[in-house]
Amino acid sequence: MPLGSGLLGLRFLGCRTEDIPEAKRGSVLVIGAGPAGLGAAGRLVCMGHEVVVVDKMPEPGGLLIFGIPEFRVRKDRVRAGIRELREAGVEFRTGIEVGRDVSLEKLIHEFDAVLIATGTWKTKRLRIPGAELEGVYGALEYIVEYFMAKYGYRPLSSVPALGERVAVIGGGFTAIDACHIAMERGAREIHLVYRRTRREAPAGPNEFEMLEKKGVNIHELVSPKRYVGCDSRVCGVELIRMRLGAPDESGRPRPEPIPGSEFILEVTAVLEAVGLRPTPPFDPETNHGIRLNQDGTIWTDEFFRTTRRKVFAAGDVKHGPSKIGPALKSGIDAAQAIHKFLVGELKGWPGL
Ligand SMILES: Cc1cc2nc3c(=O)[nH]c(=O)nc-3n(C[C@H](O)[C@H](O)[C@H](O)COP(=O)(O)OP(=O)(O)OC[C@H]3O[C@@H](n4cnc5c(N)ncnc54)[C@H](O)[C@@H]3O)c2cc1C
Repeated sequence: MPLGSGLLGLRFLGCRTEDIPEAKRGSVLVIGAGPAGLGAAGRLVCMGHEVVVVDKMPEPGGLLIFGIPEFRVRKDRVRAGIRELREAGVEFRTGIEVGRDVSLEKLIHEFDAVLIATGTWKTKRLRIPGAELEGVYGALEYIVEYFMAKYGYRPLSSVPALGERVAVIGGGFTAIDACHIAMERGAREIHLVYRRTRREAPAGPNEFEMLEKKGVNIHELVSPKRYVGCDSRVCGVELIRMRLGAPDESGRPRPEPIPGSEFILEVTAVLEAVGLRPTPPFDPETNHGIRLNQDGTIWTDEFFRTTRRKVFAAGDVKHGPSKIGPALKSGIDAAQAIHKFLVGELKGWPGL
């Protein structure tokens, strides 16, 4: 049976359990059990390496389990793929946050190679007046909390209620899925607020149309200016209308505010989904010799090598927020480079 045939593209790994060599060639630690880490782990175990995957969450899968709703990614299939990896010899250690529970430095010394695949697990926050009010949440953090409760890792009562009127801010997958979560949580009115139009939205116009069919109110060409508080809790968002100007550095038309067009949307909660930040497993100050790019992603050369010997990086933490396919491919390609390093075919090291 192909390895990981139950887990999305992992069937590409194309090795059978009985083909895996018994004698191990090298030991690899993979930090992060999302598609990049899982793809790498599968490929490495196929090539005869001992593989340990460590993850801070209580079960492996990354955003496949704790970020993306069931209607897009079937959790039973993800779990079946992980079971196959485990049966093929990959060891999973969950509930361990590298950089907090164990230092990266210690792990680098314990393994022949380390792959960092820790994704982008922080929402970029809007710095507008009222951002500190109760009821204003980073969408990804809220979604992860919700799935933790949904899968029985904590009581549902520990996840803050959203109330009846929820505003979701953004135009990517996180924003779309935050609308679905708000529906699941029983919000009566959901407002998706985006500063460009659906044509420029990273999630694409179809996702907007699907939400509209489900009764979500879409507000295009508007941007939040401030949150309005009632006592310490958010009860409104002041929005300003935008028009599209000349293209910005992203190549998309720059949204420009239309003075005097402000209006207030009454809300009981806000989920901000305006982008995600890379989360390498260390503080930028104690970077273990691993250089970061300006946007916080980990710098690597074409062989996924960071500036620290033995340490590689793949997935969204290397190339920024993307999709399942590119993250998985990046992990599989990094595994190939790690294999070459471990069998002595990759000479030298960048910057050393
Ligand atoms: C809400 C949402 C919906 C999405 N929907 C889609 C979609 O429908 N289709 C699509 O193609 N893409 C979608 N994406 C994007 C896709 O999920 C990501 O591009 C992909 O999961 C990235 O894979 P990764 O392996 O790089 O990181 P992740 O999947 O983010 O996995 C990283 C792993 O690292 C672990 N980790 C982080 N820090 C540490 C640490 N210090 N120590 C130990 N472990 C750590 C995390 O627990 C996590 O398991 C969505 C993203 C979000 C946020």
